[in-house]
Amino acid sequence: MGGNRIQVGIVGAGPAGLLLGHLLHLNGIDSLIVENRSREYVIDRVRAGVLEQGTVDLLQAMGVGDGLQQAGLRHEGLHVSFRGSRHRIDLAGLTGGKAITVYGQNEVVRDLIDARTATTRPLHFEAERVSVSDLDSSSPVLRFQHGGAEHEVHCDYIAGCDGFHGICRPAIPEGVLTVYERIYPFAWLGILSEAAPSSEELVYTYHDRGFALFSMRSPKVTRLYFQVPPDEPIEHWSDEAIWTEMLERMTTQDGWQPNVGRIIQKSVTPMRSFVAAPMRYGRLFLAGDSAHIVPPTGAKGLNLAASDVLVLARALKAFYQHGRTEWLQEYSDVCLRRVWKAQRFSWWMTSTLHRFPDGHAFDHQRQLADLDYLTTSRAAMTSLAEQYVGLPADVSFESAGLTD
Ligand SMILES: Cc1cc2nc3c(=O)[nH]c(=O)nc-3n(C[C@H](O)[C@H](O)[C@H](O)COP(=O)(O)OP(=O)(O)OC[C@H]3O[C@@H](n4cnc5c(N)ncnc54)[C@H](O)[C@@H]3O)c2cc1C
Repeated sequence: MGGNRIQVGIVGAGPAGLLLGHLLHLNGIDSLIVENRSREYVIDRVRAGVLEQGTVDLLQAMGVGDGLQQAGLRHEGLHVSFRGSRHRIDLAGLTGGKAITVYGQNEVVRDLIDARTATTRPLHFEAERVSVSDLDSSSPVLRFQHGGAEHEVHCDYIAGCDGFHGICRPAIPEGVLTVYERIYPFAWLGILSEAAPSSEELVYTYHDRGFALFSMRSPKVTRLYFQVPPDEPIEHWSDEAIWTEMLERMTTQDGWQPNVGRIIQKSVTPMRSFVAAPMRYGRLFLAGDSAHIVPPTGAKGLNLAASDVLVLARALKAFYQHGRTEWLQEYSDVCLRRVWKAQRFSWWMTSTLHRFPDGHAFDHQRQLADLDYLTTSRAAMTSLAEQYVGLPADVSFESAGLTD
């Protein structure tokens, strides 16, 4: 059995774990990242694609923004479509020049794995039987099998960055966490298509047949979604049927519609709002999807993972460099303020843009009125814009060891 000691044990090499590992590296803090999937699997997983301005700034400040700089698509606006017409919301004009950047989570993860590898600090893929224990002691333990050997690593702190289905949150004793949850009565059927995007900006559609979203991953690949019943088997949808439904929902009166191309990936994603609080137990800190899930309508999941680990990196830096623990104590409270605002925004976007199976004619008219107000009131558009590009960071980059 390999015995060992490390400053910070990180479970999970998704965006949260990899970002945290690099932030700690930049502050001279040693960490070990343990991931149960393979490198290829982690990179190929198709997920988020919209980065808030603050996430872009963070990646740049961390020195891992070259790929983003070259291939990211900066969007200064988005469209909301209903009753057959598209309405543009000027994100940059309403927020003093802030924008979102479309850059696939795959690319973010690939860039971060490359950066981690270059540091030569440990990152173990395909680890098995990962577990954490002694969380309320001064030396929590991370155990796993890797390369045919058993490992037992004693840590100062453990970061649970292992996503919604990970092992860290369930390792917290019963009764400690309060769980807040809402499961929506629909899912998203999403496709990647080899088709040039027919709009330079995202188009959110509210249609009589339900929600649809036009987005993209690159100048050659379109990413599209529409609302389906929960647990809809993807096998029920032929490529032809998917395109018929997409075009039915998205085509506007002026003739705009997505370009049709070969479908290269398709999947169904359930929709859930979830928060487990507090995001800390003893010396275990939960970050990203391990602590909270948002429905993807507001494009906040990856961005929240980034803001959590910025707060955690600040706290760990203060501990290792100055022996201060108050920011570790405050970690959960600071994160949850932002998490709940993102939860509220994601719930609002979801509720406004989807047809609910039990919705009444009243709800439909109310949603249309909501969208009419949103697209004609500068105050309403500003509210959406400042939340969509991302509310200001709760902690400064400088406090986490970066140059603002
Ligand atoms: C299908 C899907 C589609 C999504 N689409 C969008 C979207 O369009 N827009 C958006 O903003 N967000 C989207 N999200 C959310 C976004 O991808 C997440 O918020 C983001 O990945 C959170 O990063 P994370 O690092 O916290 O968690 P994850 O990315 O889930 O990373 C956790 C990592 O931990 C690993 N792990 C799990 N268990 C263990 C274990 N026992 N031991 C070791 N490692 C473990 C996992 O393999 C994974 O690599 C989507 C999520 C899913 C699941």
